[in-house]
Amino acid sequence: MAAGLVRREWSSVELTEAALKRIARLDRSLNCFITLDADKALADARRADQALAMDRATPLTGIPLAHKDIFCIEGWRTTCASRMLADFVAPYTATAVARLQEAGTVTLGKLNMDEFAMGSSTETSFFGHTANPWALDRTPGGSSGGSAACVAAGLTAAATGTDTGGSIRQPAAFCGVTGLKPTYGRVSRYGMIAFASSLDQAGVLAGSVEDAALVLACMAGLDPSDATSSEHRDPWLEAVPRAGVGTLADGPLTVGLAKEFFKAIVAGGERIDEVRRTLERLGFRCLDLSLPHIAAAMPAYYVIAGAEASTNLSRYDGVRFGHRCAAPQSLADLYERSRGEGFGAEVKRRILTGTYALSAGYFDAYYLRAQKIRRLIAQDFAEAFKQADLLLAPTAPGTAFRRGQLTDDPVAMYQQDACTIPVNLAGLPALSLPCGLADGLPVGAQLIANHFDEERLLKTGAALQQATDWHERRPNLGWAEAA
Ligand code: GLN
Repeated sequence: MAAGLVRREWSSVELTEAALKRIARLDRSLNCFITLDADKALADARRADQALAMDRATPLTGIPLAHKDIFCIEGWRTTCASRMLADFVAPYTATAVARLQEAGTVTLGKLNMDEFAMGSSTETSFFGHTANPWALDRTPGGSSGGSAACVAAGLTAAATGTDTGGSIRQPAAFCGVTGLKPTYGRVSRYGMIAFASSLDQAGVLAGSVEDAALVLACMAGLDPSDATSSEHRDPWLEAVPRAGVGTLADGPLTVGLAKEFFKAIVAGGERIDEVRRTLERLGFRCLDLSLPHIAAAMPAYYVIAGAEASTNLSRYDGVRFGHRCAAPQSLADLYERSRGEGFGAEVKRRILTGTYALSAGYFDAYYLRAQKIRRLIAQDFAEAFKQADLLLAPTAPGTAFRRGQLTDDPVAMYQQDACTIPVNLAGLPALSLPCGLADGLPVGAQLIANHFDEERLLKTGAALQQATDWHERRPNLGWAEAA
């Protein structure tokens, strides 16, 4: 798209109109968008066309994007897929999105997700579920399911997402697109509605590693408005808009495979074996190793994330913003009914378990113990990175499950995150790469790197995508003609 813009083969207005047309045709069945604003998008596109005409363009100028509805954008309704924020118009813009807008991208709209990013299927949204473009009766994964389905169906070339426990990588795997969760601190969390602040990280879903890197380069960097955003400078990442991802220069790398990750697999294991063979063919050394504590990651995560969510979500009390119940009789009644009506069942479950884990008498047994497990898991990874430069794992235990299949079993839903959550607890960067199909549905392979080593992570991902064409497979959209 960018090359065509520079060569004047098409304008940003034309790209935007084409995207709007495709969305009109496909999104009735998919439900990726919570909010779409053609007027605002076309105004962005006209501005981008002016910048292009004056040769003031970045590689992203004029490219239509869409953003997970967890990012505040000034003047845009920002719902987090909750009834609580169904009418909330953000008064300011998240830094990650502001940087993309300053680079000249077009904002088409806001994408569906699990309510407050809690879930693995995009079924808990107040605005209805999103369908997987590979099979409409399957979930797209979650919580960034709207972003994954949007990219898989070719509605946008890339979309933002957030990953607290796997919410970029697992939907990317389910929809056959590339998903990048950066190192914690790489991208500012300012203006991203908080779920679990010690884990939340913004990232991107795209059609390729090259595209994901381009978007990351734009979003990343220190932000004084987020005290946990990192000062780490990365000359390689800063050069990506000019030089691309580039190739590995520092000799053969070692890729570790931890046996504990592979215990979780229920489908698609032979695809990960194939990735291993491809890496070996490309000259990587593969090494079996162990991360002994990661089986405890899931319970530790659901204590820590719940605890942080219960405090973060206490701000929704019906007083300053968000849903307010009708005719409150007292302050307690205002709180109780506003929260009771505004939050869905899964969000309430997190608030209840999180509050319990933090309460006097239980704090040591749950929250403190979970923090100790978190430390052990981080140490496991630190040991592993003494032996290996990168780790290879499945992204999810299986392929996209059917809508409704796990909705009555929260723990089975949480087990979806078995392979992604350890990475968040340790704050590491990771990629999910499409690596072929199992029973006609996409499988994702996960590459994990050490802190701030996005360079080797993305260069390795790009090397795999140069050697294979798994990432170019797109779903058959025959259902669109039938509809
Ligand atoms: N599925 C996980 C959860 O429900 C991860 C969510 C996320 O990464 N935002 O907490």
